[in-house]
Amino acid sequence: MAQFEVEGWLHLDHGGSIELVQACLDAGFDSVMIDASDKPFAQNLATSKKVVDMARPYGANVEAELGFVAKLGQTHIEDGFTRPEEARIFVKETGVHALAVAIGSAHGFYKEEPKLDLDRLSEIRNQTDACLVLHGGSGIPDHVLRASIQRGICKINLATEIKNMFMTKLKILFQDNDEIDLRKVFPPAIEAVIKLISYKLKVINHK
Ligand SMILES: [Zn+2]
Repeated sequence: MAQFEVEGWLHLDHGGSIELVQACLDAGFDSVMIDASDKPFAQNLATSKKVVDMARPYGANVEAELGFVAKLGQTHIEDGFTRPEEARIFVKETGVHALAVAIGSAHGFYKEEPKLDLDRLSEIRNQTDACLVLHGGSGIPDHVLRASIQRGICKINLATEIKNMFMTKLKILFQDNDEIDLRKVFPPAIEAVIKLISYKLKVINHK
């Protein structure tokens, strides 16, 4: 994204089909995620391997998910946590660069403080060199985010806190105000999101 002087990647999150992945690769995405984690292990493996083969000529990175990371509105089940030995086989057989792991995080807001299975994360790290990804980063306490990085997480997905910050800020701006010009209300909301992301970057870069 040199034209915007931004150092960043264009990444497809939770790609649900081969067709969507292909469209994103053709459009120039740097990275694609195929999420077949709701399928049986063998099928998830075969689909993810296919995407790695598709992405190779494009030089794009591939992320897959192994285990069950609760989607919005679902509760997580420990039985669905990523098994370290399966992670080793999965990465070796598919050749994925990044692997989203299920260790107790969930998408959306948490009703109570999430407990991450950090010992399991260390075991997974011992089994594979793939970039390990933590989905459901919103609401995880700072010290737990840092601990997860120390134990092998390379990428943290954060969406809910960002969306919430933007909309909450907009709601405040609209109170007692009948502004109709988006150009006046969007910049402060964007500024609030920038502050949040800067803070999170400070947290995770803290040694
Ligand atoms: Zn996710």
